[in-house]
Amino acid sequence: MGKGAGGPRALSRLGMIYDVAVIGGGAVGSAIARELSRYELNIALLEAAPDVGMGTSKASTAIWHTGFDAKPGSLEARLMRRSYALMEQFAPEAGIPIERTGGLLIAWSEEQLATLPALLDKAKQNGVADVYLIAADEVYRLEPRLGPGALGGMLVPGEHVLCTYTVPLACATQAVVNGITLKLNHSVKAIQSRDGFHVLGGPGGSVECRWIINAAGLYSDEIDRLLGHHDFIVTPRRGELIVFDKFARSLINHILLPVPTAKTKGVLISPTVYGNVLLGPTAEDLPDKTATSTSASGLQTLLEKGRAILPELLNEEVTATYAGLRAATEHSDYQIRLHAGQRYVCVGGIRSTGVSASLGIAEYVAGLLQEAGLTLKPKLQFKSIRMPNIGEAATRPYQSAEMIAANPTYGQIVCHCERVTLGEILAATRTVIPARTVDGLRRRTRVLQGRCQGFNCHGAVVSLLARETNQNPSQLMMLEQDHVA
Ligand SMILES: Cc1cc2nc3c(=O)[nH]c(=O)nc-3n(C[C@H](O)[C@H](O)[C@H](O)COP(=O)(O)OP(=O)(O)OC[C@H]3O[C@@H](n4cnc5c(N)ncnc54)[C@H](O)[C@@H]3O)c2cc1C
Repeated sequence: MGKGAGGPRALSRLGMIYDVAVIGGGAVGSAIARELSRYELNIALLEAAPDVGMGTSKASTAIWHTGFDAKPGSLEARLMRRSYALMEQFAPEAGIPIERTGGLLIAWSEEQLATLPALLDKAKQNGVADVYLIAADEVYRLEPRLGPGALGGMLVPGEHVLCTYTVPLACATQAVVNGITLKLNHSVKAIQSRDGFHVLGGPGGSVECRWIINAAGLYSDEIDRLLGHHDFIVTPRRGELIVFDKFARSLINHILLPVPTAKTKGVLISPTVYGNVLLGPTAEDLPDKTATSTSASGLQTLLEKGRAILPELLNEEVTATYAGLRAATEHSDYQIRLHAGQRYVCVGGIRSTGVSASLGIAEYVAGLLQEAGLTLKPKLQFKSIRMPNIGEAATRPYQSAEMIAANPTYGQIVCHCERVTLGEILAATRTVIPARTVDGLRRRTRVLQGRCQGFNCHGAVVSLLARETNQNPSQLMMLEQDHVA
């Protein structure tokens, strides 16, 4: 038998010794926990926040990347490609909202136009064969409302949008359903290694494990240092975005992509699976890992770029703005390293493609563990899950006569902007990983996410959540102040 797998469960003076502890419940850590939950292993997923998916993963642009523009031969390129195929299967099976829009990369200068053949070649090297160079008239035929000056483009039919909230929630849910232990509000602050196992300490208590997976996102370098490594430094790269109201949705047919640079994929205009339009993100390196507020200058830059790409977009109303921090490092590739002797895998520096690549990363990490001697014995059954649909491409509960007939609370709308029903709110508080915060409820249902931003239903939503989760409404509001990005 390999090290620690499938054997009798050892107990120490603290209790269970887990075979594997995953630090960080973002898209990446949750996907790793899900992947490992296929096997006869005792796994803990440790997340500092009160919910999964509250870090960078909730603030992405939500593009389901093909990996066409990744650096050929890089780990990122390889894992994005693999992940794309895995997501193709997992998303429909688990009910992760996706919308198959396709992407249209547009050249706005002679210099950019000249780089398109090389980009096409790069896509092909990355195994993305379904890409086509198109002339300016075809660009305008596909996207008639584009601003003047497009000189040509590249069509990437496989580039789509997904729900960035549901990806980590679905992965963590399936992991829990398949037996892992999820510890929320569990921040790892210290690591001691002795007698063949690690002790992960923090204010939430201690956890003992044989293997550590570091998927701590922006803090992955700090966890790496706790284990004695100095392989990379995370510099938060802020991306600000503007969300336009649903009336803007008819302005575009595809994700409108810029020609990427070495530093960033650039400012794009994209549909969302909720029926809005996103403009962003910016790319600005900052010293602060908590700087998730937007800035006047960042938003101004976006508006100027947006006006040039799609002038009519600026006539539309803005629903919200937000910012996320990419875990950029001094290296261009993911920082995934196996330290077999230490029984440690670092999964850091997953900067701008981690939601798309999460399933591929998870499979790769499982392979590294196996390579290092951990026995991966498949369970007799890997249970499937189905997440509630919050996307516009499939039927939502308020549209389903069948659901309403079976449960009339699916006919009672609480959030009118996003048409979220009482039934969905109740279900979100009673599910495998229940919503305990208003933001958690938003990410599970879309409540408060619409054009009024909760002006009409905030009070009702807080009261409902407080009643269903046995919390005091004022405590809930304070939690919200602490954790909304
Ligand atoms: C503006 C922007 C746009 C993006 N657009 C896209 C896109 O279109 N498509 C795409 O695929 N990707 C996109 N990305 C990138 C993607 O969001 C990230 O690569 C991905 O979310 C990284 O996931 P993660 O799990 O590594 O990090 P996170 O989601 O940050 O998760 C890390 C988790 O670790 C927890 N944690 C940290 N320290 C500790 C500790 N000590 N103890 C316990 N828990 C801890 C955190 O609370 C957090 O929940 C974008 C990112 C940004 C910022």
